[in-house]
Amino acid sequence: MRVLVVEDERKLAQVLASALQAEHYDVVVARTGEDGFFRANAEVFDLVVLDLMLPGRSGLEILQTLRQRHIETPVLILTARDGVDDRVLGLDRGADDYLVKPFALPELLARVRALLRRGRPSDVFRLKAADLELDLVTRRAVRGERSLDLTAREFELLEYLLRHQGHLVSREMLAREVWKEPRRATPLDNVIDVQITRLRKKVDTEGAARLIHTVRGVGFVLREGEP
Ligand code: CA
Repeated sequence: MRVLVVEDERKLAQVLASALQAEHYDVVVARTGEDGFFRANAEVFDLVVLDLMLPGRSGLEILQTLRQRHIETPVLILTARDGVDDRVLGLDRGADDYLVKPFALPELLARVRALLRRGRPSDVFRLKAADLELDLVTRRAVRGERSLDLTAREFELLEYLLRHQGHLVSREMLAREVWKEPRRATPLDNVIDVQITRLRKKVDTEGAARLIHTVRGVGFVLREGEP
């Protein structure tokens, strides 16, 4: 389970990270609003622990933008003792739970476990674009009435494109997030291009509106209509 901790107070961030790591979570710490926002957008996490008072981009802004972009990762917000309005605003903007500072670590860990166990509403496990639908639980992909026969890699690739739909996805992002090979002597560009071609043949068949677009020299974008 990957957890993103967005917290600018160095000491608290360290304490949170070690407590979560001790429970065997894979923890990434962001110390500014900008970094937290960037990571939450570009990477996939199972949970975000989000402080609201951050330098740069505030926690509320981050939360709101993530939800607007249909990133439905559970978010646990951390608020100041007197920040009642923040708490309400946070829940309104899509936070799943909150903790008021200062809190005891066992309480934080209990909330984290509960959020991860609760999972998400079933439609969050589905990704859609036009008549293309991916079910992340059954690992089935459907375009219109047609069930797509995808390899595991093609499924992951399509999932990644769908999670970032409307946004440009570079080959570097795919190498890092889908192939999990950020640093290689030889870039994966050719491998990626071949996989994209195969995937496109299955997804964008004749007669169906094109969804997977190549942006020359840059990467790919999944969207309805031309990019
Ligand atoms: Ca803070």
